[in-house]
Amino acid sequence: MSSNNRAQAPVPTAIFSHVSARYGRGPTVLHDINFRLEAGSYHVLTGPSGAGKSTLLKMLYLAHKPCSGGASLFGQDLMRLRRNGRADLRRRIGVVFQDYRLLDHLTAFENVSLPLRLQGLVKSSYAEDVVELLTWVGLGDRANAYPPTLSGGERQRVAIARAIVAKPQLIVADEPTGSVDPEMGQRLMRLFTELNKLGATLVIATHDPTMALQVGAQAWHIQDGQLHHNTPTPDGGPVIDPYHHGGAS
Ligand code: ADP
Repeated sequence: MSSNNRAQAPVPTAIFSHVSARYGRGPTVLHDINFRLEAGSYHVLTGPSGAGKSTLLKMLYLAHKPCSGGASLFGQDLMRLRRNGRADLRRRIGVVFQDYRLLDHLTAFENVSLPLRLQGLVKSSYAEDVVELLTWVGLGDRANAYPPTLSGGERQRVAIARAIVAKPQLIVADEPTGSVDPEMGQRLMRLFTELNKLGATLVIATHDPTMALQVGAQAWHIQDGQLHHNTPTPDGGPVIDPYHHGGAS
């Protein structure tokens, strides 16, 4: 047992330093991205369509490797990650994909349960929690429905439930309220806020420029391939400050 009682600062969820991203031999999509994502922080990412929001999220959930720069996730160097390390880190991340990515041959209940089954848990240990979560997102009576029979908004809510069911430390969501009505959108954003209060780090991409202010999150904006830190204000809209502190350590 360690006798070291010094308080330790929590490891930042992610640190990106001078990161750039491109697809194959295509043009550079993101340039010189610098940020430090503190554990338990909440960021809302905006930017025009095609700006690179999904690309930034993909780097965070390990689906796209930066082409240069330095990046770490949960204290591990992303540029040197091996397959096993990658799978371990990926289990700590919940992702809400823009296109949901549900399995059509599984029911809503089974889709949401999947991350728990993959952890080797038995149904009796999680069934109640999954039903409760489905009920919370307004799908208590659709637990046995298959995705093709659900509306876009219902599928989106199943995808959100699946992303959060295993209590991930980092939640990354790409337009998570894009297909639901405003009332359900508010409800889902309250759910995200609740998860953040419980300690999860959140990064949510959205087209809604007012969302960061609404949920009290820090605002990121991508424009011309660069990431800016915004300070949302209730009256004047976002004030954009380029975030170029360089040594993001
Ligand atoms: P956003 O999420 O802000 O709409 P994306 O990150 O999806 O933006 O896209 C940023 C740029 O990268 C766009 O020019 C897009 O065409 C390009 N891009 C995205 N995904 C791919 C891919 N798989 N292959 C090649 N180019 C891509």
